[in-house]
Amino acid sequence: MQKNLDKPVANALNEAFQRERKLSFMEKIYLPGIVKGLWHTLKQIFRPRFTMNYPEEKWTPPAIFRGRPVLVEDNGKERCVACGLCARACPPLAISMQANEDSDDPKERYPNFFEINMLRCIYCGYCEEVCPEEAIVMSKDYDIVFESREDAIYDKDRLLVPKEDLKERLDFLKEYKNNQFGQFWDFQEENNIHSVRDRDTDWNVGLSLVDMLEQQKKNDATKASSNWSV
Ligand code: SF4
Ligand code: SF4
Repeated sequence: MQKNLDKPVANALNEAFQRERKLSFMEKIYLPGIVKGLWHTLKQIFRPRFTMNYPEEKWTPPAIFRGRPVLVEDNGKERCVACGLCARACPPLAISMQANEDSDDPKERYPNFFEINMLRCIYCGYCEEVCPEEAIVMSKDYDIVFESREDAIYDKDRLLVPKEDLKERLDFLKEYKNNQFGQFWDFQEENNIHSVRDRDTDWNVGLSLVDMLEQQKKNDATKASSNWSV
């Protein structure tokens, strides 16, 4: 029979609309359905199991997994320069920090405090994406419990993790970002000492990568003309 597409059958306002279809005899006795269900269950019994007895059995996620964000500790210090990009990019405004300058080297900035409200965090990974220092990364930690709202605010003590413990994620990021940006991104260990842009007194623009690295060395070797810390 030619279907009338202008008049949909599944239209409850249509008088000809039937809410239930007619069941065949075999469907009415339910037995074939029950046997089919039992057969399906029986087949599953002999398949490999994917369930775990959590929390007794812990799952170790792969490097691609986005667990709770942590700060990278590099040689006993945070890599973070408190630029605020992560806080700016964080959709639920979970990150807060206060920048300070290192008294030993006024060129260096670090977060006086750095907090992530884990009740707000949605594990999106945007903080990791935008961080120019590879200072905040998503860890494998998914086992997070709080007893109060205050407990859910993670400070530097709980956020800092040595880079050695984050090796897998850092390696993964290197590969992932390089694929995106054509071998451009690579976290440079020696570049972890930062320079303030206004120390480039020559105001060079349009430098090649080699020139930029030269300029960077020159900037790092220059003493700061002022100390902005109070
Ligand atoms: S993972 Fe997303 S929500 Fe969580 S702190 Fe980072 S940017 Fe904010
Ligand atoms: S984006 Fe990176 S360097 Fe900047 S404040 Fe966040 S963690 Fe620190």
